[in-house]
Parts: sequence; structure tokens; C-alpha cells
Amino acid sequence: MSVSVSEQLVHLAELARLDQRAKVVADKLETLPQAAKKADAVVAKLKAELDAAHVRKNSALLAKKQGENEITEERHKIRKWESRASELKGEREHAALGSEIGTAKRQIKQLEDAVLEHMEALEQVDKDLAALEKKHAAAVIDAKAEWDKVDDDLKALRAEFANFGVGKKALLDKLPAAVIKRYEVIANKRQGVGVAIISVKDDCDACHRAVPPQLVIQIMKGQVVESCPACNRLLVHHSMTRVEAPGGAS
Ligand SMILES: [Zn+2]
Repeated sequence: MSVSVSEQLVHLAELARLDQRAKVVADKLETLPQAAKKADAVVAKLKAELDAAHVRKNSALLAKKQGENEITEERHKIRKWESRASELKGEREHAALGSEIGTAKRQIKQLEDAVLEHMEALEQVDKDLAALEKKHAAAVIDAKAEWDKVDDDLKALRAEFANFGVGKKALLDKLPAAVIKRYEVIANKRQGVGVAIISVKDDCDACHRAVPPQLVIQIMKGQVVESCPACNRLLVHHSMTRVEAPGGAS
């Protein structure tokens, strides 16, 4: 089965139309969920703040616990010293012990102040956590609502995008292997757009460079399958492209 050059060009023109539409759909797939993605980012930010608040809480808890343990130890020391006081005979020994106990008591006072500060910090972090949890829960609901808004459209666009693959394969099957190979090499390098259309101004609609007049004529007459000298995409003439029905392009 051989396909004439002019038939090949018509198929390529159809391929160009498909590629362009596919690009529009791909762009929409990218832009449509933007609000939802932003909402996801808000959720992630609040989650990070929540995690940080939990870390603050844990370190305050730990510091409080440590302070309490040290207080217990100091009290234990004092009790031990006090029980030994009766065994001491000399004045100086009593004075020394009294001074030790005084130091330990001052130390306890300092530790108690620090524990109190940790408790205040804990109170604050608990308030922060409660507020953040509320905000985070609301943001999760927001994000879900944003995704729900676009979910159906995204599904439809994904289905449409998958269909392009089917339509494209059917068209490629009609073309000679050498042309397919050229198309695929170019399409891979050019964001999936392997065919360009010579516009009414005789320029390439993809790279907007002028196409040499002789080449325009040859392609228009269906004589050659040629690449744009500037961007290398395969060229078809605008007269070969099917006009999209109104309403078809949304
Ligand atoms: Zn070009």
C-alpha cells in the first residue's frame, strides 16, 4: 500500500491539528488544578507549622521533666544533709553544712522558676496547637473542595488526552515508516509538536520564520514532505488543514 505525497501531507495536517489540540489540553491539565494545588500548599505549610509546634511542645515537656527531676534530687540531698546534722559536733562543720543546704535551696528556687517558665511555654504552645489544628482542618476541607471543583473536568481532559494517542496512532499507521520516524524524532525534540503549518503569511506557524517561497509552492501542490528550515518540523500548507467546527475548540 503506497500513500501519495499529497495524501501524506493531508494526514500530517490532521496530525498537526491533533498535536495542537493535545497541547491545549495538556496546558489545561496544568492550569486547571492551580487553585487546588495552591490549597494543597496551604495545607502543607500549616502541617509544617503544626509539626514545629509539636517539636516545641515536646522539648518544653522534656525541659520541665528535667527541671522537676533536678528539684527532686536537690531535695533528696537536703534531707540527707539534715539527717546528718545531728551527728556533727563542730561549729564549723555545722556552718559548712548550713551553707550547703542554703545553696541547694537557692538552686531549688531557680529550678522551680524555670519549671514555671516551661509550664507557661507549654500553655502557650497548647494554645498555638489548638489554633493551628483548627486552621489545618479547615485548609484540608478547602483543598478537598478545590479538587472536587475540578475533578470532573480533569477526568474529562485526561480521557480526551488519552484519545489523542488513539487518534494519533491511527494517523501514523497511514504514513510511510520513514515519515513516521522523521515525525517522531522532531516531535520528541519539540514538546510533542512534530508538524507545523505554513500560515497565510507563508511563515511557519510554530517558529514564525518565513518559509522559502519555492518550498511553500511545492508543499501546497502536494509534491514534497519537507521540514521547516528553521525549526525542522514537518510542514503542511494551511489549505490542507480542516477548519475546526465552531464550538469544537473550547
Ligand atoms: Zn518552523
